[in-house]
Amino acid sequence: MFDLTGMTALVTGASGGIGSAIARSLAAQGARLALSGSNGDKLRAFREEMDEHSLHLKHGVDHVAIKCNLADPDDVEKLVPAAVDTLGKIDILVNNAGITRDNLAMRMKDEEWSDVIRINLEAAFRLMRAAARPMMKVRFGRIVTITSVVGATGNPGQMNYAAAKGGLTAMSKSLAQELASRGITVNCVAPGFIRTAMTEVLPDAQKDALNARIPMGRMGEGADIGAAVAYLASREAGYVTGQTLHVNGGMAMMS
Ligand code: NAP
Repeated sequence: MFDLTGMTALVTGASGGIGSAIARSLAAQGARLALSGSNGDKLRAFREEMDEHSLHLKHGVDHVAIKCNLADPDDVEKLVPAAVDTLGKIDILVNNAGITRDNLAMRMKDEEWSDVIRINLEAAFRLMRAAARPMMKVRFGRIVTITSVVGATGNPGQMNYAAAKGGLTAMSKSLAQELASRGITVNCVAPGFIRTAMTEVLPDAQKDALNARIPMGRMGEGADIGAAVAYLASREAGYVTGQTLHVNGGMAMMS
């Protein structure tokens, strides 16, 4: 089940904590990947690691790395065509890249607002619009966007981030309705707290306080998100669209 052999995927933020776990999960199911990020060195190192991993899995597929700064609309417009050129097609788009620029509303600077909206929300719109075209031609596609529990609950200090994540959810539901009849599904995965380099540096007391808010008593792993994405990207999830899969250890239970 959830075999992605023969499928291709573009993953943004692929060298990051969650993005790398998503990439590993899709590759483990047999997909060939276009790995994207803005840091060329990080990306190349990760691609080499992924190629070794795929040889180890005996898939023998070579993944590609495509540098793209999601803050630059011209760069973003080139990303999907570059992925299609190098991979031959695009079956799966994973909008994973994201940034935070946290501040209380009263102190939030215009740039803190606009950077987060441009990278987290607007870039995803451009990528979805570009990916829909080739997917419509072949009447198949899977678009999966990484949102966040705070897009549903809100969070003090994250007015910009929560707006972008909530916007991604609403955007995905709209596109899901436009593309459903063409065999293309559009869904979101909303992580809670995930153990990444970012959360690892928190003091133990703060980690304990966070864990106390999670019924499962621990943070999630990148692989938990990777598994959810692999499912939504699979042929078996073809009747699921416009949905958000919350992966948060029970921290917020959405109906
Ligand atoms: P991360 O390790 O900081 O990774 C973020 C990724 O985004 C990096 O690969 C980075 O690539 C890319 N990125 C940032 N700015 C970019 C830009 N201007 N252009 C292109 N790529 C850019 O963060 P993460 O924790 O894995 O987060 C991944 C996603 O999960 C994000 O959307 C985040 O909002 C969401 N999320 C995370 C958590 C959590 O607990 N960690 C919880 C809920 C939701 P470069 O370094 O190459 O620029």
